[in-house]
Amino acid sequence: MVEYIRGIKMNINIKLPDGSIVSTESGISAKDFIKNNIGEGLLRSALAIKVDDRLMDLSCSLDKDSNLTVITYKNEEGKEIYNHSSSHIMALAVKRLFSDVKFGIGPAIENGFYYDFDLKSSFSEEDLKKIEEEVNRIIKEDLKFERFEIDFNQALEVFKDQPYKLEMINDIKEKGEKLSYYKVGEFTDLCRGPHLESTGKIKAFKILKASGAYWKGDSKNKQLQRIYGLSYPSQTELKEYLTKLEEAQKRDHRKIGKELDLYSFQEEAPGMPFFHANGTLIWNALVDFVSDKMIKRNYEINKTPIILNQSLWLQSGHWDHYKDNMYFTKIDDQDFAVKPMNCPGNILIYKAHQYSYRDLPIRAGEFGLVHRHELSGVLSGLFRVRCFTQDDAHVFCTKEQMKEEILDLINFIDEVYTTFGFSYHMELSTRPEKAMGDPQLWNLAENTLKEVLDSTKKEYKVNEGDGAFYGPKIDFHLNDAIGRTWQCGTIQLDFQMPEKFDLTYEGPNNQKIRPVMIHRAILGSVERFLGILVEHFEGKFPLWISPIQVIVLPIADRHNDYAKEISNKLKENGFRVDIDKASLTMNKKIRNAELRKINYILVVGDSEEKNKTINIRTRNNEILGEKDLDSFIKDLREEVEKKSIKN
Ligand SMILES: [Zn+2]
Ligand SMILES: [Zn+2]
Repeated sequence: MVEYIRGIKMNINIKLPDGSIVSTESGISAKDFIKNNIGEGLLRSALAIKVDDRLMDLSCSLDKDSNLTVITYKNEEGKEIYNHSSSHIMALAVKRLFSDVKFGIGPAIENGFYYDFDLKSSFSEEDLKKIEEEVNRIIKEDLKFERFEIDFNQALEVFKDQPYKLEMINDIKEKGEKLSYYKVGEFTDLCRGPHLESTGKIKAFKILKASGAYWKGDSKNKQLQRIYGLSYPSQTELKEYLTKLEEAQKRDHRKIGKELDLYSFQEEAPGMPFFHANGTLIWNALVDFVSDKMIKRNYEINKTPIILNQSLWLQSGHWDHYKDNMYFTKIDDQDFAVKPMNCPGNILIYKAHQYSYRDLPIRAGEFGLVHRHELSGVLSGLFRVRCFTQDDAHVFCTKEQMKEEILDLINFIDEVYTTFGFSYHMELSTRPEKAMGDPQLWNLAENTLKEVLDSTKKEYKVNEGDGAFYGPKIDFHLNDAIGRTWQCGTIQLDFQMPEKFDLTYEGPNNQKIRPVMIHRAILGSVERFLGILVEHFEGKFPLWISPIQVIVLPIADRHNDYAKEISNKLKENGFRVDIDKASLTMNKKIRNAELRKINYILVVGDSEEKNKTINIRTRNNEILGEKDLDSFIKDLREEVEKKSIKN
């Protein structure tokens, strides 16, 4: 579309990320613009463009003054376009091989992509191999992705044989959004885009696995066949990722949890973990660790009910913003809700007091069990659950104390994470569309968080529009031993909740003043954090949180009494000990102890009994040799106190 004024082509101004402004004729394709004004080099790696805030295809034309960014694989958005385009290519391959297939959705995910297919039977290994081969053929064919914009009725016609697409078209119509579709080869998909220019841009492709998945993740719906795939701009990158994936599978907390008898999942309560004795020991150690630090920081630790009257949730705003994820029940004909968050309960405790400015800040913690309804399709071990314990706290303070409190929270979180050897980064999320409250307060809240973050001199990322409905937040993302990141901690400023619940404190002149409320969690979910630790340490826990710290292995039955004596003394000193009296060879017993990832293995036989010593080895097959028990206990105590993460 070229705009003319009295027959003369109009010029438009395109601003580039470096601030320079290029004047060009309206209607030029993005591709030509990049070639002429930025360079062939960048054009080769370009996957799409961003015009102002909108991602678009390289083939689109520029027709108004705008900011332009070239998107490459280096950008998260570029990776997503790359992966999502691969899902279309895979769908085309499936269409060629299974003509009666109906298509679900095919989004990019954190690593790779998937596509859901409705098919009479599930995919066999042989099928997956054929699909992969077909994808490679399509890549060689270098087919173009073409975009078409259509109205509602046209969409109904184009997708008349695709029931899932028709359902989506009707959903989109309800939202009043525009419709578009993309065509690659013989495959047409309802899609917002953008996409790669052509299939040849994909350099490495692999199908990972197929599994069942409910339409829209809801077990009430039909089960579709989902294929997960990976694509990369080079074979090397694909290989690197596969190595990482293998490492992650070795560390899978569901597998290790079973091996170490930590927790299980039962059909009787989907998405709600059952903690076994060993898992509970770790769980308690984590809660104690954070509680001790809280007490040192002048926190009070509360405990509030799990079921609270519905009126409270209406007042808090959770009803409006969160009710789809809440569980409800009736008691004495009144409506109650199972708490998805601990805030309202702790607000009621605040309101049970009459605080003056001298009492503030009130730092109220709670290890609160919350329930949040997640669709069955998304549940995943301890990482995505329906109930968990939040290591929650709410700080009620004056506006003047806000900065100091936030800075202290950042330091607190830093202390906890570094104890486990995690590095981390912070992200600031600002006002979302569905925000509640006065924009001026939002600005004050956002600026306060920014100022504190800047003062730490640590780098942080800003996520525009990603804040909670009641205030902006800082999220903490920690990096584990194999380079994955996990969002755990959060600090959220809130001027809304004190308003809704009419919270006050008494000022110096007896006037009523509104406190500021800060929500914070450090571990986030204790259960999920525990799962992350299992994967991070591969089940080889640091001594202080290890469910069984020491095992004593008597060489022969006649050493059982001495083994018992050693074990008792260790227990008296507060350590968690086991004895293996099985009649197995010593090698087998050592191997078993290593598999149970018990930190220290003590072998006792004739010479140890005579010398009143023990023979120490570690789960990593290091032999530390003979030692007397007292000095071993001293070493253990030191290792626990330091919360050492060696091994
Ligand atoms: Zn698409
Ligand atoms: Zn809260």
